[in-house]
Amino acid sequence: MSESSMIAVPPEPVSPKPVFPKPVSPNRSGQLVVFTGPSGVGKGTLLRSLLPHPQLHLSVSATTRSPRSGEVEGQDYYFVSRSVFQDWVAGAQLLEWAEYAGNYYGTPRQPVVEQLEQGKTVILEIELEGARQVRQTFPDALQVFVLPPSVAILEQRLRGRSQDSPESILKRLARAEVEIAAAKEFDVQIVNDSLDQAIVALKTVLLNPNPPNDPANNPEDQQQDDRDSQTDPQTDPDPL
Ligand code: ADP
Ligand code: 5GP
Repeated sequence: MSESSMIAVPPEPVSPKPVFPKPVSPNRSGQLVVFTGPSGVGKGTLLRSLLPHPQLHLSVSATTRSPRSGEVEGQDYYFVSRSVFQDWVAGAQLLEWAEYAGNYYGTPRQPVVEQLEQGKTVILEIELEGARQVRQTFPDALQVFVLPPSVAILEQRLRGRSQDSPESILKRLARAEVEIAAAKEFDVQIVNDSLDQAIVALKTVLLNPNPPNDPANNPEDQQQDDRDSQTDPQTDPDPL
């Protein structure tokens, strides 16, 4: 049995439903978005298709992994030593951090706070453990998960990218099993099969101009939402 055939089949694809961004807090006018999915699913490809955009800011993470060819310091990552990373953790300079495939990754706090104060939608492209930390510390953050059409296709994409060692690819595929199993913890799931369709779905989620209760958001679900709110007034604890 190959490594990938042991990995669980992704959950039923869920159609991306337009979601009106939830505010992070009364004194921060911007919206924090967590963007997670297994390595190789296409997170970077999707984000590159939307950026630069005047409303969106992509957080630049710190990592202890070595730069891939073509990666630029301060643009793709801040590439730091383990001791610098540990100093940043000790100084509470990271909003979240995690160890992934043998390296540390973390989000520098200050730029995120500044961009939120400027009213931007700030995107954290981070793995599952970091996403869970943000869910605790910023419960209003919108959590988006990107799924592959299948694990076999995920493996093809990881190998086709030709950027990671065979050992690192195996670690990433093993981690993908755990991450895919957690997809339903997230507010929105997007399946990156057709790239064009996934881009449209992501744009809808990040740049949805419709007000929260506008039936234009999703006419079919709206009727169901109305029924739900009659039976359970707690369904929308965070109205705008
Ligand atoms: P991630 O940032 O999630 O690790 P990447 O954006 O680097 O993933 O994408 C991994 C590989 O998959 C890249 O070679 C990319 O060109 C390819 N890819 C991304 N999305 C699609 C798609 N919808 N269909 C086919 N290939 C894709
Ligand atoms: P890569 O080495 O492929 O660039 O990234 C490996 C994984 O680390 C990806 O799942 C990516 O989303 C995640 N990652 C990147 N930056 C951060 C970060 O700041 N924090 C956490 N927790 N994960 C990150």
